[in-house]
Amino acid sequence: MPEAKHDWENVPTVFIYRSCCPTCRSERYKPIKGKAELDGSSWRRCICDNCGSPYLVISEPLPEVGSDEDGDGYYWNGGNER
Ligand SMILES: [Zn+2]
Repeated sequence: MPEAKHDWENVPTVFIYRSCCPTCRSERYKPIKGKAELDGSSWRRCICDNCGSPYLVISEPLPEVGSDEDGDGYYWNGGNER
């Protein structure tokens, strides 16, 4: 598919951080248990493969960008409404 002609100097930027161990910064981990919640967030219990520290990873569903077209406080998130 050809790339659309966007003005890439003026588009919003979304930062996504990869989860890593808060102790040693290793990105290698063993997932222990995780669950997706109804509000679109999810959490995962992880054990670091490198240093063995346990940590919890939480994914939040909506970036703080986008349009709130109907003013209900929720941003459009790609059509995953339940
Ligand atoms: Zn670690």
